[in-house]
Amino acid sequence: MRKVSIFGATGSIGQNTIDLIKRAPDEYDVVALTGAQNIAQLAADAKALKAKIAITADEARLEDLRAALDGTGIAVAAGALAIVEAAHRPADWIMSSIVGAAGLAPGIAALSQGTTLALANKESLVCAGKLLLETGRAHGAQILPVDSEHSAVFQALVGEEIDAVERIIITASGGAFRDWPLENLPEATLEQASYHPNWDMGQRITIDSASMFNKAMEIIETREFFGVDPAMIEVLIHPQSMIHALVGFTDGALMAHVGPADMRHAIGYALHHPVRRHLPVERLDLAKIGAFEFRAPDDLRWPALRIAREVMARGGLAGAVFNAAKETALDGFIAGKLKFTQMSDVVSQTLDAMDASGGHIDATMTLDNVVETDHQARKVTRLAIEKKAR
Ligand code: NAD
Ligand code: MG
Repeated sequence: MRKVSIFGATGSIGQNTIDLIKRAPDEYDVVALTGAQNIAQLAADAKALKAKIAITADEARLEDLRAALDGTGIAVAAGALAIVEAAHRPADWIMSSIVGAAGLAPGIAALSQGTTLALANKESLVCAGKLLLETGRAHGAQILPVDSEHSAVFQALVGEEIDAVERIIITASGGAFRDWPLENLPEATLEQASYHPNWDMGQRITIDSASMFNKAMEIIETREFFGVDPAMIEVLIHPQSMIHALVGFTDGALMAHVGPADMRHAIGYALHHPVRRHLPVERLDLAKIGAFEFRAPDDLRWPALRIAREVMARGGLAGAVFNAAKETALDGFIAGKLKFTQMSDVVSQTLDAMDASGGHIDATMTLDNVVETDHQARKVTRLAIEKKAR
Protein backbone atom coordinates (compact mmCIF):
# COMPACT_ATOMS: atom_id res chain seq x y z
CA MET A 1 0.00 0.00 0.00
CA ARG A 2 1.34 3.43 -0.92
CA LYS A 3 0.86 6.14 1.64
CA VAL A 4 -0.54 9.27 -0.05
CA SER A 5 -1.67 12.72 1.09
CA ILE A 6 -3.58 15.36 -0.85
CA PHE A 7 -3.14 19.05 -0.05
CA GLY A 8 -6.04 20.98 -1.55
CA ALA A 9 -8.16 17.82 -1.75
CA THR A 10 -11.47 19.65 -2.17
CA GLY A 11 -10.40 21.63 -5.26
CA SER A 12 -10.53 20.77 -8.91
CA ILE A 13 -7.10 19.04 -9.00
CA GLY A 14 -7.71 17.43 -5.60
CA GLN A 15 -11.04 15.97 -6.71
CA ASN A 16 -9.52 14.60 -9.92
CA THR A 17 -6.76 13.01 -7.85
CA ILE A 18 -9.34 11.46 -5.53
CA ASP A 19 -11.24 10.16 -8.55
CA LEU A 20 -8.14 8.17 -9.60
CA ILE A 21 -7.39 6.94 -6.09
CA LYS A 22 -10.97 5.79 -5.54
CA ARG A 23 -10.65 3.53 -8.59
CA ALA A 24 -7.96 1.47 -6.83
CA PRO A 25 -8.73 1.83 -3.12
CA ASP A 26 -6.68 -1.23 -2.12
CA GLU A 27 -3.50 0.32 -3.45
CA TYR A 28 -3.51 3.48 -1.34
CA ASP A 29 -3.32 4.23 2.32
CA VAL A 30 -4.54 7.83 2.61
CA VAL A 31 -2.78 9.83 5.32
CA ALA A 32 -3.91 13.49 5.16
CA LEU A 33 -6.56 15.39 3.20
CA THR A 34 -6.80 19.18 3.41
CA GLY A 35 -9.40 21.71 2.35
CA ALA A 36 -10.64 25.13 3.39
CA GLN A 37 -14.33 26.14 3.10
CA ASN A 38 -15.97 23.01 1.73
CA ILE A 39 -16.23 20.97 4.92
CA ALA A 40 -18.92 18.61 3.59
CA GLN A 41 -16.68 17.54 0.70
CA LEU A 42 -13.60 17.21 2.90
CA ALA A 43 -15.45 15.08 5.45
CA ALA A 44 -17.10 12.89 2.81
CA ASP A 45 -13.76 12.17 1.13
CA ALA A 46 -11.97 11.59 4.43
CA LYS A 47 -14.60 8.95 5.27
CA ALA A 48 -14.64 7.36 1.83
CA LEU A 49 -10.84 7.13 1.68
CA LYS A 50 -10.42 6.29 5.39
CA ALA A 51 -7.91 9.14 5.82
CA LYS A 52 -5.97 9.37 9.07
CA ILE A 53 -6.47 13.14 9.38
CA ALA A 54 -8.58 15.87 7.75
CA ILE A 55 -7.52 19.48 8.03
CA THR A 56 -9.26 22.71 7.11
CA ALA A 57 -7.26 25.87 6.47
CA ASP A 58 -10.09 27.85 8.05
CA GLU A 59 -9.87 27.73 11.85
CA ALA A 60 -13.46 28.99 12.16
CA ARG A 61 -14.64 25.74 10.56
CA LEU A 62 -12.85 23.31 12.85
CA GLU A 63 -15.96 22.55 14.91
CA ASP A 64 -18.00 21.86 11.75
CA LEU A 65 -15.31 19.44 10.59
CA ARG A 66 -15.14 17.80 14.02
CA ALA A 67 -18.92 17.34 14.03
CA ALA A 68 -18.91 15.93 10.49
CA LEU A 69 -16.26 13.32 11.39
CA ASP A 70 -17.47 12.55 14.91
CA GLY A 71 -17.22 8.86 15.75
CA THR A 72 -15.17 7.96 12.65
CA GLY A 73 -11.79 7.89 14.40
CA ILE A 74 -10.43 10.34 11.80
CA ALA A 75 -8.36 13.08 13.44
CA VAL A 76 -9.21 16.72 12.66
CA ALA A 77 -7.21 19.95 12.75
CA ALA A 78 -7.35 23.50 11.40
CA GLY A 79 -5.11 26.35 10.31
CA ALA A 80 -2.04 26.93 8.18
CA LEU A 81 0.34 25.47 10.79
CA ALA A 82 -1.69 22.28 11.08
CA ILE A 83 -1.45 21.90 7.30
CA VAL A 84 2.35 22.25 7.39
CA GLU A 85 2.47 19.75 10.26
CA ALA A 86 0.45 17.29 8.19
CA ALA A 87 2.95 17.70 5.33
CA HIS A 88 5.60 16.27 7.67
CA ARG A 89 3.54 13.10 8.22
CA PRO A 90 5.31 10.30 6.35
CA ALA A 91 3.84 9.63 2.90
CA ASP A 92 5.28 8.09 -0.28
CA TRP A 93 3.43 10.49 -2.58
CA ILE A 94 2.00 13.90 -1.85
CA MET A 95 -0.22 15.99 -4.12
CA SER A 96 0.41 19.74 -3.78
CA SER A 97 -2.80 21.27 -5.11
CA ILE A 98 -3.58 24.11 -2.77
CA VAL A 99 -4.21 27.27 -4.81
CA GLY A 100 -1.88 30.24 -4.34
CA ALA A 101 1.19 31.03 -2.25
CA ALA A 102 -0.46 29.16 0.66
CA GLY A 103 0.85 25.99 -1.01
CA LEU A 104 4.50 26.95 -0.57
CA ALA A 105 5.13 26.10 3.10
CA PRO A 106 3.37 22.70 2.94
CA GLY A 107 5.30 21.93 -0.28
CA ILE A 108 8.64 22.68 1.40
CA ALA A 109 7.61 20.59 4.42
CA ALA A 110 6.63 17.67 2.18
CA LEU A 111 9.94 17.83 0.29
CA SER A 112 11.91 17.90 3.51
CA GLN A 113 10.65 14.40 4.32
CA GLY A 114 12.11 13.18 1.00
CA THR A 115 8.76 12.20 -0.50
CA THR A 116 7.63 12.34 -4.12
CA LEU A 117 5.80 15.63 -4.60
CA ALA A 118 3.25 15.90 -7.40
CA LEU A 119 3.26 19.64 -7.97
CA ALA A 120 0.13 21.33 -9.28
CA ASN A 121 0.70 24.43 -7.12
CA LYS A 122 2.68 26.42 -9.71
CA GLU A 123 2.60 29.48 -7.46
CA SER A 124 5.20 27.89 -5.17
CA LEU A 125 7.61 27.47 -8.10
CA VAL A 126 7.02 31.05 -9.21
CA CYS A 127 7.52 32.42 -5.67
CA ALA A 128 10.45 30.33 -4.63
CA GLY A 129 11.50 27.88 -7.33
CA LYS A 130 15.13 27.72 -6.28
CA LEU A 131 14.23 27.10 -2.64
CA LEU A 132 11.76 24.37 -3.54
CA LEU A 133 14.17 22.57 -5.88
CA GLU A 134 17.08 22.86 -3.46
CA THR A 135 14.97 21.47 -0.61
CA GLY A 136 13.98 18.58 -2.84
CA ARG A 137 17.59 17.89 -3.81
CA ALA A 138 18.86 18.14 -0.24
CA HIS A 139 16.38 15.48 0.92
CA GLY A 140 16.42 13.21 -2.12
CA ALA A 141 12.80 14.09 -2.91
CA GLN A 142 11.42 13.96 -6.42
CA ILE A 143 9.17 16.68 -7.82
CA LEU A 144 6.85 15.66 -10.64
CA PRO A 145 4.96 18.28 -12.65
CA VAL A 146 1.16 18.15 -12.70
CA ASP A 147 0.48 21.26 -14.75
CA SER A 148 -0.55 19.79 -18.12
CA GLU A 149 2.08 21.68 -20.16
CA HIS A 150 4.90 20.77 -17.80
CA SER A 151 3.83 17.16 -17.56
CA ALA A 152 3.85 17.14 -21.38
CA VAL A 153 7.40 18.59 -21.52
CA PHE A 154 8.53 16.15 -18.83
CA GLN A 155 7.16 13.24 -20.86
CA ALA A 156 8.73 14.52 -24.10
CA LEU A 157 12.10 14.64 -22.32
CA VAL A 158 12.12 11.00 -21.18
CA GLY A 159 15.30 9.45 -22.56
CA GLU A 160 16.58 12.79 -23.92
CA GLU A 161 19.51 14.99 -22.91
CA ILE A 162 18.51 18.46 -21.72
CA ASP A 163 21.57 19.80 -23.61
CA ALA A 164 19.95 18.71 -26.88
CA VAL A 165 16.91 20.89 -26.19
CA GLU A 166 16.73 24.05 -28.28
CA ARG A 167 13.31 25.34 -27.28
CA ILE A 168 10.26 24.50 -25.22
CA ILE A 169 6.86 25.54 -26.54
CA ILE A 170 3.97 25.61 -24.10
CA THR A 171 0.54 26.02 -25.60
CA ALA A 172 -2.30 28.24 -24.41
CA SER A 173 -5.95 28.00 -25.35
CA GLY A 174 -6.23 31.80 -25.21
CA GLY A 175 -8.94 31.56 -22.56
CA ALA A 176 -12.32 33.23 -22.55
CA PHE A 177 -11.33 36.39 -24.47
CA ARG A 178 -9.02 35.22 -27.21
CA ASP A 179 -11.46 36.35 -29.93
CA TRP A 180 -12.89 39.43 -28.23
CA PRO A 181 -12.31 42.86 -29.81
CA LEU A 182 -9.53 44.46 -27.72
CA GLU A 183 -11.66 47.52 -26.91
CA ASN A 184 -14.22 45.33 -25.13
CA LEU A 185 -11.72 43.81 -22.70
CA PRO A 186 -11.93 46.56 -20.04
CA GLU A 187 -15.64 45.79 -19.63
CA ALA A 188 -15.21 42.01 -19.25
CA THR A 189 -17.29 40.81 -16.29
CA LEU A 190 -16.38 38.32 -13.58
CA GLU A 191 -18.87 35.85 -14.99
CA GLN A 192 -17.43 36.11 -18.50
CA ALA A 193 -13.86 35.72 -17.21
CA SER A 194 -14.82 32.67 -15.13
CA TYR A 195 -15.67 30.63 -18.22
CA HIS A 196 -13.07 28.45 -19.96
CA PRO A 197 -13.64 27.12 -23.48
CA ASN A 198 -11.81 23.79 -22.89
CA TRP A 199 -10.88 23.10 -19.27
CA ASP A 200 -12.98 22.66 -16.16
CA MET A 201 -10.83 24.20 -13.38
CA GLY A 202 -11.02 26.26 -10.21
CA GLN A 203 -12.30 29.83 -10.62
CA ARG A 204 -8.96 31.55 -9.96
CA ILE A 205 -6.95 29.65 -12.57
CA THR A 206 -9.83 30.05 -15.04
CA ILE A 207 -9.69 33.87 -14.74
CA ASP A 208 -5.89 33.66 -14.92
CA SER A 209 -6.32 31.80 -18.20
CA ALA A 210 -8.44 34.62 -19.63
CA SER A 211 -5.83 37.22 -18.63
CA MET A 212 -2.95 34.81 -19.48
CA PHE A 213 -1.50 35.38 -16.03
CA ASN A 214 -1.71 31.61 -15.87
CA LYS A 215 0.52 31.26 -18.93
CA ALA A 216 2.83 33.94 -17.56
CA MET A 217 3.21 31.85 -14.39
CA GLU A 218 3.79 28.78 -16.54
CA ILE A 219 6.64 30.42 -18.47
CA ILE A 220 8.38 30.98 -15.14
CA GLU A 221 7.40 27.47 -14.02
CA THR A 222 9.04 26.07 -17.17
CA ARG A 223 12.21 27.99 -16.47
CA GLU A 224 12.37 26.76 -12.88
CA PHE A 225 11.41 23.18 -13.60
CA PHE A 226 13.65 22.49 -16.56
CA GLY A 227 16.41 25.02 -15.85
CA VAL A 228 16.39 26.40 -19.40
CA ASP A 229 17.19 29.91 -20.56
CA PRO A 230 14.04 32.09 -20.70
CA ALA A 231 14.79 32.86 -24.37
CA MET A 232 14.21 29.15 -25.14
CA ILE A 233 10.64 29.23 -23.86
CA GLU A 234 7.85 30.07 -26.30
CA VAL A 235 4.09 30.38 -25.95
CA LEU A 236 1.84 29.27 -28.77
CA ILE A 237 -1.91 29.85 -28.95
CA HIS A 238 -3.62 26.55 -29.70
CA PRO A 239 -7.37 26.98 -29.22
CA GLN A 240 -8.17 23.24 -29.01
CA SER A 241 -5.94 22.48 -25.97
CA MET A 242 -4.98 19.05 -27.29
CA ILE A 243 -1.28 19.62 -27.89
CA HIS A 244 -0.09 20.60 -24.43
CA ALA A 245 3.55 21.33 -25.17
CA LEU A 246 6.29 20.70 -27.70
CA VAL A 247 10.00 20.26 -27.15
CA GLY A 248 12.34 21.32 -29.97
CA PHE A 249 15.73 19.59 -30.24
CA THR A 250 19.01 20.65 -31.84
CA ASP A 251 18.37 18.37 -34.83
CA GLY A 252 15.17 20.29 -35.66
CA ALA A 253 12.79 17.64 -34.35
CA LEU A 254 9.73 18.76 -32.40
CA MET A 255 8.24 16.26 -29.95
CA ALA A 256 4.63 17.13 -29.22
CA HIS A 257 2.47 15.76 -26.44
CA VAL A 258 -1.11 15.27 -27.61
CA GLY A 259 -3.99 14.32 -25.34
CA PRO A 260 -7.48 15.27 -24.19
CA ALA A 261 -8.02 18.33 -21.98
CA ASP A 262 -8.45 16.22 -18.84
CA MET A 263 -6.18 16.83 -15.85
CA ARG A 264 -6.48 13.19 -14.83
CA HIS A 265 -3.87 12.43 -17.48
CA ALA A 266 -1.14 14.61 -15.92
CA ILE A 267 -2.21 13.65 -12.38
CA GLY A 268 -2.23 9.95 -13.29
CA TYR A 269 1.18 10.20 -14.95
CA ALA A 270 2.59 11.69 -11.74
CA LEU A 271 0.75 9.14 -9.59
CA HIS A 272 2.07 6.09 -11.44
CA HIS A 273 5.44 7.46 -12.53
CA PRO A 274 7.73 5.93 -13.79
CA VAL A 275 5.23 3.46 -15.28
CA ARG A 276 2.25 4.23 -17.46
CA ARG A 277 -1.06 2.77 -16.37
CA HIS A 278 -4.52 2.74 -17.88
CA LEU A 279 -6.27 6.06 -17.26
CA PRO A 280 -10.00 6.78 -17.66
CA VAL A 281 -9.57 9.65 -20.13
CA GLU A 282 -11.03 10.12 -23.60
CA ARG A 283 -9.09 8.66 -26.55
CA LEU A 284 -8.72 11.33 -29.24
CA ASP A 285 -10.09 10.59 -32.69
CA LEU A 286 -7.71 12.69 -34.80
CA ALA A 287 -9.49 12.00 -38.09
CA LYS A 288 -12.65 13.42 -36.55
CA ILE A 289 -10.79 16.44 -35.14
CA GLY A 290 -9.38 17.07 -38.60
CA ALA A 291 -7.01 19.97 -37.94
CA PHE A 292 -5.06 21.67 -35.19
CA GLU A 293 -5.00 25.44 -35.13
CA PHE A 294 -2.11 27.64 -33.99
CA ARG A 295 -1.61 31.41 -33.59
CA ALA A 296 1.13 33.65 -32.27
CA PRO A 297 0.36 35.20 -28.87
CA ASP A 298 -0.41 38.90 -28.74
CA ASP A 299 1.30 41.04 -26.08
CA LEU A 300 -1.32 43.79 -26.40
CA ARG A 301 -4.16 41.43 -25.56
CA TRP A 302 -2.10 39.63 -22.91
CA PRO A 303 0.41 41.99 -21.25
CA ALA A 304 0.96 39.32 -18.58
CA LEU A 305 3.27 37.46 -21.00
CA ARG A 306 5.58 40.47 -21.23
CA ILE A 307 5.52 40.91 -17.45
CA ALA A 308 6.68 37.29 -16.98
CA ARG A 309 9.75 38.01 -19.13
CA GLU A 310 10.53 41.09 -17.03
CA VAL A 311 10.19 39.08 -13.83
CA MET A 312 12.66 36.45 -15.07
CA ALA A 313 15.11 39.14 -16.18
CA ARG A 314 14.83 40.82 -12.75
CA GLY A 315 15.56 37.61 -10.83
CA GLY A 316 15.90 37.51 -7.03
CA LEU A 317 12.52 37.50 -5.30
CA ALA A 318 10.74 39.20 -8.22
CA GLY A 319 8.75 35.97 -8.71
CA ALA A 320 7.38 36.24 -5.15
CA VAL A 321 6.39 39.87 -5.78
CA PHE A 322 4.82 38.96 -9.10
CA ASN A 323 2.76 36.11 -7.68
CA ALA A 324 1.58 38.11 -4.66
CA ALA A 325 0.66 41.09 -6.85
CA LYS A 326 -1.17 38.83 -9.29
CA GLU A 327 -3.12 37.08 -6.50
CA THR A 328 -4.08 40.44 -4.96
CA ALA A 329 -5.06 41.94 -8.32
CA LEU A 330 -7.22 38.88 -8.94
CA ASP A 331 -8.87 39.37 -5.53
CA GLY A 332 -9.50 42.99 -6.59
CA PHE A 333 -11.12 41.92 -9.85
CA ILE A 334 -13.26 39.28 -8.12
CA ALA A 335 -14.35 41.89 -5.55
CA GLY A 336 -15.31 44.32 -8.33
CA LYS A 337 -12.62 46.87 -7.37
CA LEU A 338 -10.59 46.47 -10.57
CA LYS A 339 -11.49 46.21 -14.21
CA PHE A 340 -10.21 43.12 -16.02
CA THR A 341 -7.47 45.03 -17.86
CA GLN A 342 -6.38 46.88 -14.72
CA MET A 343 -5.04 43.69 -13.18
CA SER A 344 -1.87 43.83 -15.29
CA ASP A 345 -1.49 47.57 -14.55
CA VAL A 346 -1.37 47.08 -10.78
CA VAL A 347 0.92 44.06 -11.09
CA SER A 348 3.39 46.13 -13.15
CA GLN A 349 3.12 49.04 -10.71
CA THR A 350 3.85 46.72 -7.77
CA LEU A 351 6.90 45.24 -9.47
CA ASP A 352 8.21 48.73 -10.28
CA ALA A 353 7.60 50.04 -6.75
CA MET A 354 9.20 47.01 -5.08
CA ASP A 355 12.11 47.13 -7.51
CA ALA A 356 12.73 50.80 -6.80
CA SER A 357 12.76 50.15 -3.03
CA GLY A 358 15.22 47.27 -3.61
CA GLY A 359 15.47 45.49 -0.25
CA HIS A 360 12.76 42.86 -0.58
CA ILE A 361 13.52 41.71 -4.11
CA ASP A 362 17.24 41.43 -3.42
CA ALA A 363 16.88 39.48 -0.16
CA THR A 364 18.21 35.90 0.05
CA MET A 365 15.63 33.29 -0.92
CA THR A 366 14.59 31.78 2.42
CA LEU A 367 11.02 30.78 3.29
CA ASP A 368 10.82 33.68 5.80
CA ASN A 369 12.03 36.24 3.25
CA VAL A 370 9.66 34.94 0.59
CA VAL A 371 6.71 35.15 3.01
CA GLU A 372 7.76 38.66 4.12
CA THR A 373 8.18 39.80 0.49
CA ASP A 374 4.80 38.29 -0.37
CA HIS A 375 3.14 40.27 2.47
CA GLN A 376 4.84 43.51 1.49
CA ALA A 377 3.92 43.08 -2.20
CA ARG A 378 0.27 42.45 -1.28
CA LYS A 379 0.22 45.72 0.67
CA VAL A 380 1.70 47.65 -2.26
CA THR A 381 -0.81 46.09 -4.67
CA ARG A 382 -3.75 46.86 -2.37
CA LEU A 383 -2.66 50.51 -2.29
CA ALA A 384 -2.44 50.56 -6.09
CA ILE A 385 -5.95 49.06 -6.27
CA GLU A 386 -7.33 51.69 -3.88
CA LYS A 387 -5.81 54.44 -6.02
CA LYS A 388 -7.49 53.02 -9.12
CA ALA A 389 -10.83 52.71 -7.34
CA ARG A 390 -10.74 56.41 -6.37
P1 NAD B 1 -9.40 25.13 -6.59
O1 NAD B 1 -9.73 26.53 -6.25
O2 NAD B 1 -10.40 24.29 -7.26
O3 NAD B 1 -8.93 24.37 -5.25
C1 NAD B 1 -8.03 24.94 -4.36
C2 NAD B 1 -7.78 24.07 -3.14
O4 NAD B 1 -6.94 24.81 -2.24
C3 NAD B 1 -9.04 23.72 -2.37
O5 NAD B 1 -8.89 22.44 -1.79
C4 NAD B 1 -9.07 24.78 -1.25
O6 NAD B 1 -9.76 24.33 -0.11
C5 NAD B 1 -7.61 24.95 -0.96
N1 NAD B 1 -7.26 26.25 -0.42
C6 NAD B 1 -7.70 27.47 -0.87
N2 NAD B 1 -7.14 28.45 -0.13
C7 NAD B 1 -6.34 27.85 0.79
C8 NAD B 1 -5.48 28.34 1.83
N3 NAD B 1 -5.33 29.64 2.07
N4 NAD B 1 -4.80 27.43 2.56
C9 NAD B 1 -4.93 26.11 2.33
N5 NAD B 1 -5.73 25.60 1.37
C10 NAD B 1 -6.41 26.46 0.60
O7 NAD B 1 -8.04 25.20 -7.43
P2 NAD B 1 -7.52 24.19 -8.55
O8 NAD B 1 -8.04 24.63 -9.86
O9 NAD B 1 -7.69 22.78 -8.10
O10 NAD B 1 -5.97 24.56 -8.57
C11 NAD B 1 -5.10 24.10 -7.56
C12 NAD B 1 -3.66 24.36 -7.99
O11 NAD B 1 -3.39 23.61 -9.15
C13 NAD B 1 -3.39 25.82 -8.37
O12 NAD B 1 -2.06 26.11 -8.03
C14 NAD B 1 -3.55 25.82 -9.87
O13 NAD B 1 -2.79 26.83 -10.50
C15 NAD B 1 -2.98 24.45 -10.21
N6 NAD B 1 -3.47 23.89 -11.47
C16 NAD B 1 -4.79 23.62 -11.62
C17 NAD B 1 -5.27 23.07 -12.81
C18 NAD B 1 -6.72 22.71 -12.97
O14 NAD B 1 -7.06 22.08 -13.97
N7 NAD B 1 -7.60 23.04 -12.07
C19 NAD B 1 -4.38 22.82 -13.85
C20 NAD B 1 -3.03 23.11 -13.67
C21 NAD B 1 -2.59 23.63 -12.47
MG1 MG C 1 -1.36 24.59 -17.34
